[in-house]
Amino acid sequence: MVSEIISSKELKKIDPVFGQHSFDDHEQIVFCNDKDTGLKAIIGIHNTVLGPALGGTRMWNYKNEWEALNDVLRLSRGMTFKSAITGLNLGGGKAVIIGDAKTQKTPALMRRFGEFVHSLNGKYITAEDVGMTTEDMDTVREVTPYVTGISESKGGAGNPSPITAYGVFMGMKAAAKFKFGSDVLEDKNIFVQGIGNVGEALVEHLVNEGANVTVADLNQDHLETVRDKYGVTIYGGEDIYSEAMDIYAPCALGATIDDDTIYKIKAKVIAGAANNQLAEEEKHGRILRERGIVYAPDFLINAGGIINVYAELEDYDKQEIIRKTENIYNTTLEILDSAKVNDLTTHEAALNIARERIETRKRENSK
Ligand code: NAD
Repeated sequence: MVSEIISSKELKKIDPVFGQHSFDDHEQIVFCNDKDTGLKAIIGIHNTVLGPALGGTRMWNYKNEWEALNDVLRLSRGMTFKSAITGLNLGGGKAVIIGDAKTQKTPALMRRFGEFVHSLNGKYITAEDVGMTTEDMDTVREVTPYVTGISESKGGAGNPSPITAYGVFMGMKAAAKFKFGSDVLEDKNIFVQGIGNVGEALVEHLVNEGANVTVADLNQDHLETVRDKYGVTIYGGEDIYSEAMDIYAPCALGATIDDDTIYKIKAKVIAGAANNQLAEEEKHGRILRERGIVYAPDFLINAGGIINVYAELEDYDKQEIIRKTENIYNTTLEILDSAKVNDLTTHEAALNIARERIETRKRENSK
């Protein structure tokens, strides 16, 4: 037994779950294991005050379980605030599957994962995230109704990424309006880091508007495809953060704004799709503000995807999805203004509004 090997004092020091740096009063954390399919997953349910915890499943080759746990804690918390600020009646949840999506994902593994989701009786509803496709969600749908982001041919709202990209585009325009006095992105130098499902769709909007777009990705083949398709420039340097640019759009993984990068960043605006862009919200949010860099909070501007999948639960149409997503422009401007007036970081201003909505509902529920 572990307790025989590690003294209780040492065990306390480790605090494996509730003492994690990223633990923020999460309601429930579910560890899922299945030997036959090789499934190792963690479902994080952060908060269900506003509704069932909805958030995608990420499959990633994490270096270790700590990294996976940290990711699911951060991501599920982010979903709580994303849905709250977007006005959706949803709580925050997320799942991670530990493994390589290219080589280890099988239909049997996805079905087994779906069974674990089903065992939560709708408290957690899944969708796609990095490493997942609508087809994977269709597979999960075979064993549970608690899944969104399924194919349009199967009655779902389809791939959420184009709508996410559209919302990011709206948020970026609002941030440009705030910083430059105009939301026109023509001739702006914009770096898109990560040209996957969302990043590529964002590139298309930016190119259509006449922006000068530079792209970076780990996948060289895809970089060349995107360059040829949209006429953008492939980033050839060593350190994207130090480059002179108007707008930096992080669209790969989170925490790219950290102690190493934050003082190098020359961008005047940061607006992208990646979740949890600030490695440390308070500290890095504050430094960005001190440096005069306008940061459009990630959980606010990347909400298009959740708006899209929410349509499957609430049964609203494409027009309503677009209307709600376009509203990200107004909400972003309101938050940026409010941060300025109240002397807050933009992240804090957005969190305050989201928290207020949750607290109000909590008070109503307890009446
Ligand atoms: P994706 O897996 O399709 O694309 C990610 C891309 O980033 C890949 O092309 C990958 O090669 C690239 N990448 C990874 N590490 C990189 C690095 N260090 N430098 C440059 N490129 C790198 O994922 P996606 O669906 O486009 O999502 C992108 C981000 O947006 C994720 O953080 C995701 O959580 C977030 N997000 C996505 C949605 C959605 O609807 N898909 C919604 C909200 C938030």
